[in-house]
Amino acid sequence: MKAIRSSLLAVIFAASAVMCSNSNAANNENNNFKNKETMKFEKVALPYATDALEPVISKTTVELHYGKHHQAYVDNLNKLIVGTEFENADLETIVKKSSGAIFNNAGQTLNHNLYFTSFKPNGGGEPKGKLAEAIKSQFGSFDKFKEEFSAAGVSLFGSGWVWLAKDASGKLSIEKDSNAGNPLTKGLTPILGFDVWEHSYYLDYQNRRADHLKELWKIIDWDVVGSRY
Ligand code: MN
Repeated sequence: MKAIRSSLLAVIFAASAVMCSNSNAANNENNNFKNKETMKFEKVALPYATDALEPVISKTTVELHYGKHHQAYVDNLNKLIVGTEFENADLETIVKKSSGAIFNNAGQTLNHNLYFTSFKPNGGGEPKGKLAEAIKSQFGSFDKFKEEFSAAGVSLFGSGWVWLAKDASGKLSIEKDSNAGNPLTKGLTPILGFDVWEHSYYLDYQNRRADHLKELWKIIDWDVVGSRY
């Protein structure tokens, strides 16, 4: 009886662990899991209220950027993959292997999932732990890294992203990618990405991209970003 009870408990435990990991996976920032009922990609849930990042990013910009731009990329991706080899693929695989419109919309879906989960109200400060050590050893100091990262974002011509990425050995690099680019396509892992498309800052900062990038450091969630390293 005791054995039956404990094996029953083990089954219940295993089942709840599976359910738990599924729900974590559904909330995974890379959102590689599709909604099981609709079998469609969904954008990552916003981990704060739309006005929580003010004054760095206004409520209006979050509503438009997350609510309209990000949604459009996800909706387009879901339409475009129907009947293609990517229909049942996860998001990272699509980003690594696709091209053209599918790549653009998959890249932007992944990029914005990473972007919107990199912030929190009253964030900022400095990274901790291993990421902090790696930044210090490779860039000299956190301030030097910020300077170099921001300069890369300012100098990127047109629309795109500036990324902090790592290679398989943990070596960090700053990557500039046009349009929907993501370091994954170069075999690197994205750690932190700043969106330099005008839609991310134009309502709040007009043409002052440098000012916008400077302000973003105040809302970084270094716990989340550090966990990607
Ligand atoms: Mn954007």
